[in-house]
Amino acid sequence: SVPQRGIVMGLIVGILLGAAANVWGMESAAPPQAKPWLNAVIRYVAEPVGRIFLNLLLMTVVPLVFTSLAAGVCRLGGLERLGKLGVRAMGYFLFTSSVAAAIGLMLVQLFQPGRTVEESVVIQMQAIYGQQVQKRSEVNDWGIQSLVQMVPRNPLQAAVEMNMLAIIVFALLFGLGLQRIDSRLRETLTTTFEAISEVMVAIIGFALRAAPLGVCALIFSVVAQFGFGLLVALGMYVLVVLLGLGLQLFVVFPLLISFLGRRSPVEFFRRVRVVFLTAFSTSSSNATLPTSLRTAQTELGVSSAVAGFVLPLGATMNMNGTALFEGVTVLFLAQVAGVDLSLSQQLLVLVLSVMTAVGAAGVPGGSIPLLATVLATVQVPPEYLFLILGVDRLLDMCRTTVNVLGDLVAAIYIQRLTTSDSPVSPRNTPSLGDDN
Ligand code: ASP
Repeated sequence: SVPQRGIVMGLIVGILLGAAANVWGMESAAPPQAKPWLNAVIRYVAEPVGRIFLNLLLMTVVPLVFTSLAAGVCRLGGLERLGKLGVRAMGYFLFTSSVAAAIGLMLVQLFQPGRTVEESVVIQMQAIYGQQVQKRSEVNDWGIQSLVQMVPRNPLQAAVEMNMLAIIVFALLFGLGLQRIDSRLRETLTTTFEAISEVMVAIIGFALRAAPLGVCALIFSVVAQFGFGLLVALGMYVLVVLLGLGLQLFVVFPLLISFLGRRSPVEFFRRVRVVFLTAFSTSSSNATLPTSLRTAQTELGVSSAVAGFVLPLGATMNMNGTALFEGVTVLFLAQVAGVDLSLSQQLLVLVLSVMTAVGAAGVPGGSIPLLATVLATVQVPPEYLFLILGVDRLLDMCRTTVNVLGDLVAAIYIQRLTTSDSPVSPRNTPSLGDDN
């Protein structure tokens, strides 16, 4: 069982300690030895502990994605059925990400957060973050390179580099290949894959026992370093992002859960609490994937085939929170930079936000390099990213939560589609929470 209460405690303790440390060590009135001390604690204690926790989660991701996706594809049945489900899943991903981005763009127009940032704040932050941006915004090839790399030349290399899109492509083909081989061999191999993915899920169970400590350490380093000062300076922007994410989470998702998934939204949110907390504290869709696979099966009654098919795809391609965040950020920075965007340019921002959200890696800050590309496309200097870097980690925690919960909503939707045409092999399909 997952120590949910422990995770929440870890989160609260981490925030409180971090805030105290920030006030004590980073303020200008702090004693001179305070800052080096605090930096040492962050560097030698909090960050390594947080990293170890993240690594424990991430170590299972590659074998898990590969085995669960290949077995899922094989179990879901012929190309035609699979194609239908794949198209529905992709349609769902694009539709919900577009809704999210549109919500973000409308809110920016409504609240105009870019007009509230004072010139002095811009100058001050440029001094702190200006240099980091130059490095990060070099990646600017319109994603062509990532498109080519989606088809791996060497799947082992893709695995070593954790290139998730490439692993997905190989796993999809592997699953299709599996369907073509002798039925006895197919059964053996598919069952083996399912066993491997169950082992990975069990490992995650171990890792989650360390979650209270890991979560505490991760949050502590963020809050101790950044504090809440920047949040106040960029208050309106932060509020607009959070409001948008809140609307997506608590208005759009419940509608989708009721109408597409035919479930009770309240029950859904109650059952996915662990996923919520894991996504929030790790800021990484990839690191949360094992937990969401486990939750989908044990709490939401999604079959292993559907979960294995939808969730790995979703963790990489379905990022509602990221699409919303990108839309808001581009328009916000355009306002700060005094660039007026026409309606058609704003539509372009919407499309690009959705596309780059598909391409963004599910790691902390995964969308930042792509954001630079979108900014450059609409003639906003990507250098302006410096303004939001300091608050990005906190926003990242929130958008990742929306990204991951969106995948779970997709999973219950696809589950309903499969059970309403012809039932998938019901391995691992408890009836929990299924009020169809
Ligand atoms: N951290 C996000 C995720 O893993 C990606 C991003 O928007 O930076 O889902």
